[in-house]
Amino acid sequence: MVTINNLLRKSENSILDSILVLGKLLDVDKSYIYTYGDREVSKEVEEKFLYLMQERARGYPIQYILGEREFMGLDFYLEEGVLVPRPDTEILVEYTIEYINKNYGDRNIKVLDLGIGSGAISLSIAHYCKNTFVYGVDISDTAIKVANLNKDKLNLFNVNFYKGDLFKALEGLDLDGGFQIIASNPPYIASKEIENLDTTVKDFEPRLALDGGFDGLDFYRKITPESKRFLDDNGLLIYEIGYDQGEAVVEILYSEGFNKVSVLKDLQGLDRVVLGTK
Ligand code: GLN
Repeated sequence: MVTINNLLRKSENSILDSILVLGKLLDVDKSYIYTYGDREVSKEVEEKFLYLMQERARGYPIQYILGEREFMGLDFYLEEGVLVPRPDTEILVEYTIEYINKNYGDRNIKVLDLGIGSGAISLSIAHYCKNTFVYGVDISDTAIKVANLNKDKLNLFNVNFYKGDLFKALEGLDLDGGFQIIASNPPYIASKEIENLDTTVKDFEPRLALDGGFDGLDFYRKITPESKRFLDDNGLLIYEIGYDQGEAVVEILYSEGFNKVSVLKDLQGLDRVVLGTK
């Protein structure tokens, strides 16, 4: 029989990944692994562990192996087929939550999230702003499924998810002028840049959630003009963007008549969010 410590030594991956995966297989937390390194583990756990660590070594994302990811202090269920929520995206969510509190207080408002993935943006806003009702849209069946699982997991009722291509998903719902805020983290990597991303991203995360067309700006060009129909007067449009897309997306918002257009930076000082009001 092998012990926890034997297994950790056998793994060629980072020690943290190894501890997290073994913790998941044994259904115990990190401190148990640190404390009880001499406990024996079953053959079944040993085999599963070695298999998963092999996958990890190929670049398979740790978040898919663990089936979870923390975002905005909330635990999200995750599986292959949806983008892993990034810490950078918390910039957009934190700004949006502050904006809601400051401008609307307790008044009821509607927020639209275009491209939900695991539901990280929609569900964080719904969780922290109980006065909002969030509509989340995605073209991917997996995204809708995972986001609904997360909605149940987080016990939220002020959010609904709709499958479809951007605003088409809302057809028949009578929502013209209905949103105070439209938020989106659309696919924004230029098609030819995808091959330059990390293996973990380009080989295992959904291309549908990454590929923003020739220059990565397709979705900003599509969403911005149409958003005006669904935003109320002075409604806010807020996007996550790639670090080098600030100027181009600001220009798109200005050319569609948006006001108070500005850029927010991420923790590394790079452009990360563009916003403006109708
Ligand atoms: N931030 C992601 C990455 O760098 C891209 C996400 C997106 O295209 N919206 O991999």
